[in-house]
Amino acid sequence: MARAYDQEAVQPAGDVLHEACGITGLYSPGDDVARLAYFGLYALQHRGQESAGLAVGDGERIQSHREMGLINGIFNEEILGGLSGHVAIGHTRYSTTGSSIIVNAQPFELDSDLGRFAFGHNGNLTNTDDLAARLPEDVRLAATSDSEILALTIALAPGESWPEKIKAAMRIAEGAYSVVMCTTDAVYAFRDPWGVRPLCIGTYGDHGYMIASESCALATVGAHYLRELDAGEVVCIDARGVRTEHTEVVKPASLCMFEYIYFARPDSVLSGRSIYMARYEMGRALAREHPVDADVVMAVPDSAIPGGIGFSAESGLPYVEGLIKNRYIGRTFISPDQKLRAQGVQLKFNPIVENLRGQRVVVVDDSIVRGTTTPRIVKLVRDAGAREVHLRITSPPIVHPCYLGVDMATYAELIAANRTVPEICERLGADSLGYLSIENLVASTGRDRTDFCLGCLNGRYPSQPGSSNGIAQADRQPALKA
Ligand code: 5GP
Ligand code: MG
Repeated sequence: MARAYDQEAVQPAGDVLHEACGITGLYSPGDDVARLAYFGLYALQHRGQESAGLAVGDGERIQSHREMGLINGIFNEEILGGLSGHVAIGHTRYSTTGSSIIVNAQPFELDSDLGRFAFGHNGNLTNTDDLAARLPEDVRLAATSDSEILALTIALAPGESWPEKIKAAMRIAEGAYSVVMCTTDAVYAFRDPWGVRPLCIGTYGDHGYMIASESCALATVGAHYLRELDAGEVVCIDARGVRTEHTEVVKPASLCMFEYIYFARPDSVLSGRSIYMARYEMGRALAREHPVDADVVMAVPDSAIPGGIGFSAESGLPYVEGLIKNRYIGRTFISPDQKLRAQGVQLKFNPIVENLRGQRVVVVDDSIVRGTTTPRIVKLVRDAGAREVHLRITSPPIVHPCYLGVDMATYAELIAANRTVPEICERLGADSLGYLSIENLVASTGRDRTDFCLGCLNGRYPSQPGSSNGIAQADRQPALKA
């Protein structure tokens, strides 16, 4: 590799960044765009709880503020009041712990021959090293993230305008990148040619526009949802209105299925389809695929609730609340020490004993990734007096890692990677275990199998690191399209 990373900034081997963040962008002269972007981020908090920030342009300059932590701990009236302008972008970040440092918080600002700009990225590149190697020797990196490499690649790309530069970068950048950018007076938004991470656009008031990872952010501020951006689409919003262009790079559609399974908020709509209804259908399909003789159905809050209700509706078994979740636990909290743990300190879930005692319980969850949380849940339900615990999962086994933005990086950490379903069931301590099939999962979304990246379920990725060219690799796999 011609060019190494700044050694100070380089992350330790194995500590790969995996981000599935939330982004938003506002263009609305005359409105308090910082406040709107703030509330947009607030609605996207579930997509990342490690750090967040806003950048605002007022026609003359860009100002930004970013910190570690949750949105409502980062911003106050004074900070928001200092961020005045008519264009804004916001970002909330999720990553693995090792890389949870302030220099990686976004949006960050950079200079370019087209002036200063701010940048917020959701996704994960698969050819970061190749892109880094293409950068001039004298470029020093401030952060340790693929996002900075992408921003620099765009800034240094040929082109007289931002859309030209972005499209030039799209020819070489591989992987997942839904991005919002702003200059002092314009907002840009784009999705990678595979369309891995979601990104939508709506109108705000009678002259404004809003971009967001999920439609729930638009609904929160009263913006009107228009549509999802296309894969490879570049949107520019400025005083001349909205303009849109598409890259000529055509790739197999690869929307991340994990958005439907777990990540997106149930009140969001993806390409006109409700996440809630998709999950409800998954639950119904699961009840048909893996029926069980039981007394009650419960869901692991919060993400599995629509699936649990669907399972109950289809099976005719009553739906009960079996566990109550403390919603105020962030990703960084003070862990109980060994003694407290041994005494049974439960931070996240407490059971409703009255709903579980003496019952044969179906526990519906959305996914099993590492298999560390699930056995605790099974034990909690048993300790509350359940006679039997039948696990039903509204996704197939996660048997391959994700390279495109979900935090499951290696085969070693995946409980299902090298085990049969009965083996997994035994490890989890359940009486039975049933997973939804890929066919029924896809059918529940109401979309085509060819719309999705199912890499974590079937090992077929649109792009992955290590292949000399992830694009060619994907193209050699016609099954991706079939
Ligand atoms: P496991 O048993 O694999 O340790 O945990 C399974 C649980 O993790 C499920 O309840 C599922 O909703 C949740 N889960 C799945 N993906 C993620 C993720 O990316 N982040 C967090 N915090 N939880 C997840
Ligand atoms: Mg869960």
